[in-house]
Amino acid sequence: MRCACGSKATVFPKYTRLTYCGRCFSKLLEKRVKREIRKRGTFSREDIITVEDDGSAVGQACLHLLRQILKDVGCRITEGDNGKIFIPAWPADSEAAFLISKMAGISCNRPKGIHLMTQILISDCEAYCKIHRIKYHNKRNSCGETGSLLSHISNEYPQTIFSIVRSKTKLENWYAQNTY
Ligand SMILES: [Zn+2]
Repeated sequence: MRCACGSKATVFPKYTRLTYCGRCFSKLLEKRVKREIRKRGTFSREDIITVEDDGSAVGQACLHLLRQILKDVGCRITEGDNGKIFIPAWPADSEAAFLISKMAGISCNRPKGIHLMTQILISDCEAYCKIHRIKYHNKRNSCGETGSLLSHISNEYPQTIFSIVRSKTKLENWYAQNTY
């Protein structure tokens, strides 16, 4: 199996028929984070960014991705949980579970901060960490029972989580109109 660039493919995401080499897959994830950064405006040299350090693949991939993306900006990027600009380790899996929980009236806490990882799956982060030899603990970020249900459904329908996250605005409008 080959990547579109011609190199040998080493990453095989379940949600697409495309296969990637490590380099092109990393670029793909960078592109998804950049899109989220653009939504808030960009970062500047004076910014001190803190990425949530929960030991998960999501937090570690986020830290590495941001250092890559913002290397020309020159801002400081640290790990921890109390920076002024806080980036939670909150992947698409958690975001989808949060939206579904909210609609079902199940309580689920979404961390505050600037969300930059909501278009990236936990499995993408794990693949990214493997490519870059980044260590992480196996802890999974999820929203309790809803998270487990969604990951179960995703095994059969791998596009599920992306579909929910991408329908976010529609779902929220629908929710706003149908709750009193
Ligand atoms: Zn490639």
